Amino acid sequence: MSDCLFCKIIAGDIPSVSVYEDDQIFVFKDISPVADIHILAVPKKHIKSLDEQTEADAALLGYMMGKLPELAQSQGLEDGFRTIINTGPGGGQEVDHLHIHIIGGDNLPGFG
Ligand code: AMP
Ligand code: ZN
Repeated sequence: MSDCLFCKIIAGDIPSVSVYEDDQIFVFKDISPVADIHILAVPKKHIKSLDEQTEADAALLGYMMGKLPELAQSQGLEDGFRTIINTGPGGGQEVDHLHIHIIGGDNLPGFG
């Protein structure tokens, strides 16, 4: 998906501040953090959104969920964190490559 911002970040064609990478996921700092810690976890496979997932993606999405505590702790979030997945225009999704926001630390905004 050559015109996808996050595919370009995964490929290294657009710079990012990476905090974790393995064969399935890429994790980097959000460019406009809403709290002291704000990172994005994305699958290396281009999946547009939760609405576009298939049964073949179940293991990958489960893997991402399982990684979240470790990723949060790696950023110093020892006592908890917030996750957000925006889906589609109705969910406020701005980048059409599935991503999980991991947010926490000081200045955590109210929700809702
Ligand atoms: P969403 O509204 O859920 O689609 O979130 C997209 C997120 O991507 C926003 O929090 C942006 O700040 C973030 N973002 C956009 N461009 C970049 C970039 N080049 N590097 C890091 N984060 C980005
Ligand atoms: Zn993509």
